[in-house]
Amino acid sequence: MFAFLLYAMEQGVDKHVDLQNSSAKRMIGKVAVVTGGARGIGAATAKLFAENGAYVVIADILDEAGTMLADSIGARYIHCDVAKESDVESAIQLAITWKGKLDILFSNAGIGGTASSITSLDMEQVKHLVSINLLGNVHAIKHAARAMLRCNTKGSIICTSSSAGIMGGLASHPYSLSKAGIVGLMRTAACELGVHGIRVNCISPHGVPTDMLISGYRMFRGNETTPEEVKKLVGDQGSLLRGKAATVEDVAQAAVFLASDDTGFITAHNLIIDGGYTSAISSLSFIYK
Ligand code: NAD
Repeated sequence: MFAFLLYAMEQGVDKHVDLQNSSAKRMIGKVAVVTGGARGIGAATAKLFAENGAYVVIADILDEAGTMLADSIGARYIHCDVAKESDVESAIQLAITWKGKLDILFSNAGIGGTASSITSLDMEQVKHLVSINLLGNVHAIKHAARAMLRCNTKGSIICTSSSAGIMGGLASHPYSLSKAGIVGLMRTAACELGVHGIRVNCISPHGVPTDMLISGYRMFRGNETTPEEVKKLVGDQGSLLRGKAATVEDVAQAAVFLASDDTGFITAHNLIIDGGYTSAISSLSFIYK
């Protein structure tokens, strides 16, 4: 990427990169599976992968939204509950049957769950959330790694963790547990798979006004809370970039970055997309006018 930017600056090329121009595409011919790709962050990433020249398999449980999106971007859709290992195996197999290889896994499916005191956790709800948010990633990494090893692709695996896996108090206990667990899993998988040239990384978004975040806010603030209010709340309180909330496209760009060959030496990394939220508290904001 840096080489391309340098070239563009030298040539006086406009900063706006036109993705219709194939030289600007960063994933030409790559084959990717995106779990949780029917809406939100996963949908934006599936779109951006396709715009960058990738063949995309969208794996989700929202069949109508997933099929519509897949049809609109030339991708394939498969019903896949990531809590079921056999569903995940089938999604990976679809990529192999379709294009003969797997280069990229974006393991992104997740649910928010409900918050309650640690003293009254409903263990069935905890297990349900963990089966999707954490074991879903185990299933996906396991089968993607098998496929990449079989096809001898030096692939890129990206899992969606969260700011809630880094800081306490941002989400429910089971959600935070699952997201911290993903980072541990990513690091240990990166150790083993790095030997074969397969990179494994996480992205950790914070405060992206998707259906998941909006329904989370509604649980605390009431059903009348609008998407615009959520966007304003996270923009005002959830970022050092005052007034700016993350967008699904911000996260998708980070996924493309880690998926592309531009980041061939980045592995076992947790790329935090939080507008600085987990790194600093703007306690001097009265000075920084
Ligand atoms: P979203 O609810 O819009 O999207 C989640 C997607 O995952 C949906 O398409 C949903 O159908 C799918 N999904 C849920 N359960 C599934 C299952 N069992 N099998 C397959 N697919 C399933 O929410 P989002 O914000 O786009 O979330 C995407 C990921 O980003 C999640 O892992 C979430 O935890 C993570 N995340 C989100 C935020 C945020 O602020 N929105 C912050 C940090 C991390």
